[in-house]
This record gives sequence, structure tokens and C-alpha cells, in this order.
Amino acid sequence: MRFLKKLYEIIDYKTGKSEPGPDARSKQLLLYARGIEHVYPQYKVKRLTLEQLGLPNPRTFELIDGKFESAGSSRMEGLDGKAVEDMIKIAKSIAHDYEHGFERTKDEKVCGECGYGLYCGD
Ligand code: SF4
Repeated sequence: MRFLKKLYEIIDYKTGKSEPGPDARSKQLLLYARGIEHVYPQYKVKRLTLEQLGLPNPRTFELIDGKFESAGSSRMEGLDGKAVEDMIKIAKSIAHDYEHGFERTKDEKVCGECGYGLYCGD
């Protein structure tokens, strides 16, 4: 017996007018899809929509042959799956370093800009 997955759309509402570039858009929307499908494996995300309330039209992407392609009135390039794969690779690397330890930098000026200060010690 084969069970069909439930298909879903994720709509990301933003209030600003500045539109994210292709890389940021891919990372954000595809990460939502990965997160939902990871937590709820019975779900399949079929459509991703970026609804920016300050802009006239939403940006919509439909899953076609394993790739989220531009759909609706928003004719733009599809989402880049590599963007989220790179994020996952970095997250795995951070998790590895967190679990196994790493050597802190000797240049504490760098630490002022770093978002991992909470995790890496005093
Ligand atoms: S705060 Fe950031 S830059 Fe500084 S040691 Fe920790 S991980 Fe490295």
C-alpha cells in the first residue's frame, strides 16, 4: 500500500518593501520547506510564496520535477537548491565543532562581529 503525502503551501509574509535577492530568497524559502518536511515527513511542500505587503504581487514558486520554479505573475528565476545545501553544510560543520570542540581565534576583534559568541565559551 502506498500513502500519498499531503501537499502544502508555505506563505511567508513580510511587511517591508525591499525585496531579498535571489540567494537570500532561495535560502529563506527553501529552509522553511526543508524544516516542515523534516519535522512532518508526511507533508510535502508543493508551493512557496513570498508575500511582501509593500509590493503589488507575491512571488510564487511551484515544485516542478524537484525544483521550485517561478509561477503565477512573478516571472523570475527559480529557487536555487544549492543555496540551502550550502547552509546545511555550514550548520553541520558548526554542530560538529560544537560537539567536538574547536580552537578559539586569538584575534578577539573578530569575535565582536561573530554571532557564535554565546556558544563558543567565555
Ligand atoms: S566568538 Fe566567533 S570568532 Fe570568536 S572564537 Fe568564538 S566562534 Fe571564533
